[in-house]
Amino acid sequence: MANPLYDRLLAPLKGRDTTFLTLQDGTHLSGDAFLRIAARQAGALAAAGLKPGDRLAVQVEKSPEALALYAACVMSGVVFLPLNTAYKADELEYFVSDSAAGAVVCGPASEETLRRIAGAARVLTLDADGTGSLSDAAAGQPDQFRPVDRTDDDLAALLYTSGTTGRSKGAMLSQSNLLSNALTLVEEWRFTPQDVLLHALPIFHTHGLFVASNVVLAAGASMIYLPKFDVDTVLRFLPQATSMMGVPTFYTRLLADPRFDRAICSGMRLFTSGSAPLLAETHKAFEARTGHRILERYGMTETNMNTSNPYEGERRAGTVGFPLPGVELKITDPETGATLPDGEAGIIEVRGPNVFQGYWQMPEKTKAELREDGFFITGDIGLVDPDGYVQIVGRAKDLIISGGYNIYPKEVELVLDDQPGVLESAVIGVPHPDFGEGVVGVLVAAPGATPDLDAIRASVGEKLARFKQPKVLEVVSELPRNTMGKVQKNILRDQYAGVFSAGG
Ligand code: ATP
Ligand code: MG
Repeated sequence: MANPLYDRLLAPLKGRDTTFLTLQDGTHLSGDAFLRIAARQAGALAAAGLKPGDRLAVQVEKSPEALALYAACVMSGVVFLPLNTAYKADELEYFVSDSAAGAVVCGPASEETLRRIAGAARVLTLDADGTGSLSDAAAGQPDQFRPVDRTDDDLAALLYTSGTTGRSKGAMLSQSNLLSNALTLVEEWRFTPQDVLLHALPIFHTHGLFVASNVVLAAGASMIYLPKFDVDTVLRFLPQATSMMGVPTFYTRLLADPRFDRAICSGMRLFTSGSAPLLAETHKAFEARTGHRILERYGMTETNMNTSNPYEGERRAGTVGFPLPGVELKITDPETGATLPDGEAGIIEVRGPNVFQGYWQMPEKTKAELREDGFFITGDIGLVDPDGYVQIVGRAKDLIISGGYNIYPKEVELVLDDQPGVLESAVIGVPHPDFGEGVVGVLVAAPGATPDLDAIRASVGEKLARFKQPKVLEVVSELPRNTMGKVQKNILRDQYAGVFSAGG
């Protein structure tokens, strides 16, 4: 008789009359009230015919009910499958059919579209204000639900990757994958029931759902649960919070506002950053403004969290810290798979209780990336510095091989980012008739500036070996990014695919 995730994360909410969620309108929801919403939803899911192991695809705006749906799935053994709210009909069709979802929950506005594309899946609605056919069905259910038995290895979630490097893949996450990480992070980041996490991340992504929400549940803490990141709202609630988990853009946007200062952060003990690289300048500027050093960490859909800078001890800018307790990390040669010594860049591989069960209905891909000995080939390139800190250098798919040389785009981007008039850059490799791949630098100008490309070429020429210098340099108005703020280099590679061919 057990359901590890329920027993450890949700059962403690029972009878808890203190705040679990503080909402944007200033109202509070107690732990017990939240659990009762989830119990009714679990009853409604069972009444809709969903059985343990069935997938429930969920594309709804962030709300307490949306989070309760995750808890309802844990209780009823249904596999939770949250989807990015930005996805359009064609994208949704892929996820719903690929996962063979038993039911779909969506906002009322997309109900008609989903009915059209959902095939045999049932369609239920849930609005951000908590109304909709799912809530109607839940209202008729008892506010207690006996959680179904689950083992450590049973699937709790099917979470699709962000699709930064290609089509999103469904990562199968077991109960213990999620639980082990949540418990580790409570220890590592010293979460206690007194903590109030300012939660402004989306909950369709591993960061906001499994890192942030699970940690708060595991610690018996509470959260200020905001529908999205908005500087005014965050500044209003910051004085009530003790901690915040963010992506780098949260921090650059806060720093752009003069109201964000030391005083407003006086109750804060922790700011973390992940999902994309945090620039060293942001790290520095944040410390100068607030006195806090952002704790950068590294995770991914397939493994939740892999590494973290230390809570106590040096949080080293430009690194993602050390492997978490229980997580083994090694750097391997992309060609031979042999383990490389510290200091050398190669593929990051990780093994531990956090590593997923494989890609949904992709046995070949699973076999290729999840080794028999349990190591997962992350596809990220990194190195371990002399003190054991892990640095992420880039993604294997973005590595440029030009004239037989390996070029890490990040090294070139750092030089370009430093040039006068340049806000940011992306460096890619595209087919080149002589060199295999040629280096292309795509720049975004700083506000009001016009970068002098000749001067930049000259400066880059002094700083980087010839084979690393971009042969084509272009200024664009913005870089293509997905909703987590990650630069989509595959789109850039398509755009510039022809620059070196056909007489170019
Ligand atoms: P897809 O796998 O579909 O191409 P994705 O890898 O972007 O998309 P996620 O699982 O959301 O999907 O993102 C994980 C990736 O984000 C990591 O593999 C890594 O490349 C990047 N990442 C996460 N944290 C950091 C960090 N602190 N610094 C640099 N990169 C990071
Ligand atoms: Mg990935």
